[in-house]
Amino acid sequence: MSIVTSILPASAPETPFVSALLEKPQTQKMLINGNWVEASQSETIDVLDPANGTTIAYLQRGTATDVDQAVKSARAALPVWGKMTPRQKAEVLHKIADLIDANIEALSELETLDQGKPYSVSRWAEIPSAAKQFRFFAGLCHAVEGKTINNSVEYQPEGRDVHSWTLKEPVGVVGAIVPWNSPLVLTAMKIAPALAAGCTVVLKPSEETSLTAIKLGEMALEAGLPPGVLNVVTGYGHETGSALASHTDVDKIAFTGSTQTGRAIVDASKSNLKRVSLELGGKSPAIVMKDADLDLAIPGLANGIFFNAGQVCVANSRAFIHADIYDQVIEGVAAYGAEMQLGHGLNRQTAMGPVVSRKQADRIEAYVEGARNDGAQILGGGRCGDNGTFIKPTVVGNVSTASPIAQDEVFGPVLVAQKFTEMDEALNWANDTSFGLASSIWTRDFSTAHKVSRQLRAGTVWINTHSMFDAALPIGGVKQSGYGRDSGITALDNYLETKTVCAVI
Ligand code: NAD
Repeated sequence: MSIVTSILPASAPETPFVSALLEKPQTQKMLINGNWVEASQSETIDVLDPANGTTIAYLQRGTATDVDQAVKSARAALPVWGKMTPRQKAEVLHKIADLIDANIEALSELETLDQGKPYSVSRWAEIPSAAKQFRFFAGLCHAVEGKTINNSVEYQPEGRDVHSWTLKEPVGVVGAIVPWNSPLVLTAMKIAPALAAGCTVVLKPSEETSLTAIKLGEMALEAGLPPGVLNVVTGYGHETGSALASHTDVDKIAFTGSTQTGRAIVDASKSNLKRVSLELGGKSPAIVMKDADLDLAIPGLANGIFFNAGQVCVANSRAFIHADIYDQVIEGVAAYGAEMQLGHGLNRQTAMGPVVSRKQADRIEAYVEGARNDGAQILGGGRCGDNGTFIKPTVVGNVSTASPIAQDEVFGPVLVAQKFTEMDEALNWANDTSFGLASSIWTRDFSTAHKVSRQLRAGTVWINTHSMFDAALPIGGVKQSGYGRDSGITALDNYLETKTVCAVI
């Protein structure tokens, strides 16, 4: 049985900063041009602990005027950052990573308090991964390079030659807009490559989870990043985010968030035809063949959908399972979920925290209830705890592939399972979605795995695993899951322009 251990952080926070927030909510400031400032109007945003609804901090509600100040400071800092050598830039990025590692306990507790995820997820997965992004792109500061090009220009002046080459130059001022589900690591996935490419940044974290982004601003200054190279402006999406996306002196928006907001960003980018890269939503399929190793597949599917309470863009929210093993797999996944302890993320035994807000919990429950009314088989599920933000691990079977729960991004701990008999049927269902972020295939037959990995329309295919990340592995989507890639060498391209130089010599 899933149980709520406590919606209060029974294990005392070990770091003074988080203890202080629990004692008394503190007002946070924004970072503009190396200074910690208040917004140009006096309203603030309450930051809630999603496990129990108590206020833990207040954020500045940044305005278009504040965004404009931040953009001006980022513009002015471009030549300063640009003059620093690759080695100097790399040293700053390494120092940021060192500071993340040195403050790992405090950052992990802060992320957990702000977002709700279990401490173990923050401490062992997400915060270390943020440091790894900075280290990976520190190395790539040295890899920003053009090419010499063998050309065939026909009209060459007598006795002369034509020599041509490309230069890679920073795109310029980058607006980075990130969501609430994995705040610091998703922020690092934007900031680290942007800085490595020589860009300057205005960061707009989610209004739900800005606290580790603010800490990142502090660490960046301590690491020696010149003032204005990274600015952190907090506020609402429709206000602060929208002002950044439509600002005519921003050269590029690097966005992670929902497909719906991605569309709004593309609309806003028309103002000056700024560059846009989009990491959007998903409805990622897992195909489980009858020869799959179920000792891997059952916990793998459970982890893939219940990790972070299902609030993961790449979560395997749909599973297509061969009819011969269907019952065993769904019962196994449901049993795994039933064993998970729900509770406040700061309690060290918690395996699953709350979803981010009551509104999100209501939305998840409405999808499950809709499926139940349509005759679905439901294993597990329902709410627990007093606050209304804890949703128990849920497996939903016997629904049509066209139903809302099988098509929309539910973004909760809900696995939709479907039975197949023919491989082609599973593949067609897997691809029958407007999303194309990630996918997985579970089989012992390597040639099936190979074939299917070519046929799945998704930015990532995992084989016998799901949600495996590394700073070197590109991540991003096809179809309405977006364009551009974060992570990996290819992410640098998001932040570089190619200049061609052609010379008569
Ligand atoms: P969201 O789209 O509501 O918000 C994301 C960010 O955009 C927030 O900072 C928000 O303030 C801002 N925003 C909202 N409206 C805006 C506007 N009109 N103009 C500019 N900015 C605006 O997403 P969310 O609810 O915070 O996050 C969940 C979504 O993020 C899910 O769809 C999830 O799949 C997606 N996501 C994708 C990836 C990926 O790598 N593809 C990773 C994590 C999350």
